[in-house]
Amino acid sequence: MAAAEAAPFAKTGGLGDVVGALPKALRRQGVDARVILPNYQSIAPRYRQEMEFIRAITVPVAWRRQYCGLFRLDQDGVPFYFVDNLQYFDRPSLYGFLDEAERYAFFCRAVLEALPHIDFFPQILHCHDWHTGMISPFLAAHYRSDRRYASVRTVFTIHNLKYQGIFPKKIMGDVLDLGWEHFTVDGIEFYDQVNFMKAGLVYSDLLTTVSRSYAGEIQHPFFGEKLDGLLGRRSADLSGIINGIDYELYNPATDRHICKPYGQEPFPKKENKAGLQQELGLPMEPDIPLLAVVGRLVGQKGIDLIACVLDELLAMDIQFVVLGTGEDRYQNLFWQAGGRFPRRVSANIRFDEGLARRIYAGADLLLMPSLYEPCGLSQMIAMRYGTLPIVRETGGLKDTVRPYDDFTRRGNGFSFANYNAHDMLHTIRRAATLYRDYPTWLAIVGQAMAEDFSWDKSAQEYRKVYDRLTAKEIAHGTKQRSL
Ligand code: ADP
Repeated sequence: MAAAEAAPFAKTGGLGDVVGALPKALRRQGVDARVILPNYQSIAPRYRQEMEFIRAITVPVAWRRQYCGLFRLDQDGVPFYFVDNLQYFDRPSLYGFLDEAERYAFFCRAVLEALPHIDFFPQILHCHDWHTGMISPFLAAHYRSDRRYASVRTVFTIHNLKYQGIFPKKIMGDVLDLGWEHFTVDGIEFYDQVNFMKAGLVYSDLLTTVSRSYAGEIQHPFFGEKLDGLLGRRSADLSGIINGIDYELYNPATDRHICKPYGQEPFPKKENKAGLQQELGLPMEPDIPLLAVVGRLVGQKGIDLIACVLDELLAMDIQFVVLGTGEDRYQNLFWQAGGRFPRRVSANIRFDEGLARRIYAGADLLLMPSLYEPCGLSQMIAMRYGTLPIVRETGGLKDTVRPYDDFTRRGNGFSFANYNAHDMLHTIRRAATLYRDYPTWLAIVGQAMAEDFSWDKSAQEYRKVYDRLTAKEIAHGTKQRSL
């Protein structure tokens, strides 16, 4: 697997969680899964010190020959390889630089150049998100004639179609070293620019995305981010496989970050809730429902709906905790709410893994009113910790949250269908009312905690995708073969 993130080394969101956990689950299924990542300077020193130096090679970035150190570190039985280059990866954060095209073009070339040097030649290169989108076209354009690469097949996984890696076409020669024959409407051209995500979607043998609903949604213009036509044409090659969560990492019984670890019985939410309230300076009221938002504060996450009814929401008898970073307007919204209602709102505008877990353990409800959500992990983590999700029915949220039904008494959370602030508010009110009916509440929590969101089932699905390729069942229709 090639990716820009993998926990515990580098993570800004769900991508890191997935690439950190899926290889472990695949190895349990007998797949020799290994991961290759950029060697970011922000990787914790304790890992960097343990890495074993393999060798230094040079990697072509168009006319440049760049240094590339190769390192290895085994983590939980999974071999991780790291691509080192200070010019590209010695930065204060993972993303957001002007030379993003060159950084990840270098990474893609380095992944392919590294293969003969790491004592492992994969049958399948599984690429994740736009950062690795150029691997398949590079393989087709620069490596196929080499016998060792001839049988390597590629899988490309979309974690979020919104982020595509779109760059001016002048990078074609100077960065990518690709001829203009690739800059076509069925190649990597996208509205007269180069699109890394599209490159991955066009040139890879099989495609996956992170939930069945999202796989269907992105074939329509509303969710398709202008790639719905292409995805529709490749729908026979596209599978939707729901993400799992790492059950070793997210386990309330062993989580050292939380106040009082717990299993399903006895249900110790109260201690963790009290601990969280104390930590955040909120009144230690056990009976007021505590509603939380954990995640990136961006338009996708439906923060506009919260903004629309924030005053009505805060007029309710609830406590509201936010942990996240993102767009200024949303950060300011919650900062100001925290200032206006200090005994009701706690706004934590930062990335804090420990606090995230204490929130999952201590909150009663987790709000995710996303406009779209490829999979979403937070709702699954919340359920595992006995916190009930309130979600909008889209993508992976729709596939994992079963809204509680008063008649059948079945369900693991709450949901609403339309992207409408008052529908959301109504759902929050209903949940807050049910919270006061404690036996019913506990029964829903029990159903949430009993869900199986472990990786094993999904890893089997990925294995089937790989089997399709190694069994050479695939129709010879992809661009790669015609080159
Ligand atoms: P996305 O990948 O769109 O950001 P997901 O729900 O798939 O959203 O995954 C988000 C992951 O990142 C979860 O593990 C969540 O707990 C974590 N996370 C997001 N924001 C923060 C934050 N500010 N502090 C700690 N963890 C966070």
